Amino acid sequence: MRRFEYYKPLSLEEAWELKAKIPDSLFIAGGTDVLVSIKNNERQPQALISLRSIPGLVGVETSDATQIGALTTISDIIQHQELGRRYPVLVEAAQSLGSMQIRNLATIGGNLCNASPCADMALPLLVLEATVRLQSPKENREVPISEFFKGPAETCLSPHEILTGILLEPPQKNTKTCFVKKGRVKMDLAVASVAVLLEMEGKRCRKARIAAGSVAPIPLRLSQVEALFEGAAISRRAVARAQRLAEDNIIPITDIRSTEEYRRQIIGVLVKRALEKALDWSQP
Ligand SMILES: Cc1cc2nc3c(=O)[nH]c(=O)nc-3n(C[C@H](O)[C@H](O)[C@H](O)COP(=O)(O)OP(=O)(O)OC[C@H]3O[C@@H](n4cnc5c(N)ncnc54)[C@H](O)[C@@H]3O)c2cc1C
Repeated sequence: MRRFEYYKPLSLEEAWELKAKIPDSLFIAGGTDVLVSIKNNERQPQALISLRSIPGLVGVETSDATQIGALTTISDIIQHQELGRRYPVLVEAAQSLGSMQIRNLATIGGNLCNASPCADMALPLLVLEATVRLQSPKENREVPISEFFKGPAETCLSPHEILTGILLEPPQKNTKTCFVKKGRVKMDLAVASVAVLLEMEGKRCRKARIAAGSVAPIPLRLSQVEALFEGAAISRRAVARAQRLAEDNIIPITDIRSTEEYRRQIIGVLVKRALEKALDWSQP
């Protein structure tokens, strides 16, 4: 492993100064992606700038809306009872991420900024229509999460920008959600994954949000599948149609985890399973 310098700034300003002084540097949060990529020689930065000692980037605030600091660990998200009550789909996804040791280090911001198509935290945040807060010396901006991912390992972040927080609207009444993930083994990155959010009004679906992971260059909203349900009663026939439509509206690849064909097939199954679980339908 190539040697690198390590800095622990105590403020955002200090972090930006370091970044300007050492352009060939990387921000590091929990390090569970960065250090693996350095060890595998995929990246060789001159320096790592840790964000962990900067105050205000850790923790969850739930008043009307919810704010999650970017440096909040996955374990802290799982343990936050109010977060689980408001957004169970976020906690379900967090519980499926890595091992306990990884969850104790890995941060929600790191998961998003790493921009893997299989990032587990991306899917619940897509269906919850989260907003991300990005800060740089020049500006502070809030971006809908649907505009954050640009490609594998690519986001809309400029080199100096730091993701500081994630904002969520208060949950709506009668909202049903579910997250499902298929890995090769129990603790694994997703071969494919799905998050579903359905806002119901009696038997009618007022709003449907469905997102899929590992089946396109970015974590993907399945808008055509969502359109099947909005303003309609959800029938078993519609769910079967959603299964087929999901298979046709992804851009999977073959890699070490799976083949393109399997991903196409499994995504339909996961969409069906997630919808049925969200609606609490017992098996026929
Ligand atoms: C054994 C193992 C199992 C794993 N299992 C899973 C899994 O099941 N599901 C899954 O989704 N992931 C998994 N991962 C990947 C990883 O743990 C997660 O993506 C994790 O959330 C990354 O967070 P981190 O804080 O460690 O990020 P880091 O490694 O510190 O950073 C990741 C990237 O984001 C940038 N970055 C981090 N924070 C910020 C910020 N606030 N602002 C700007 N840039 C930032 C860094 O520069 C880097 O490019 C696994 C990793 C390992 C090693």
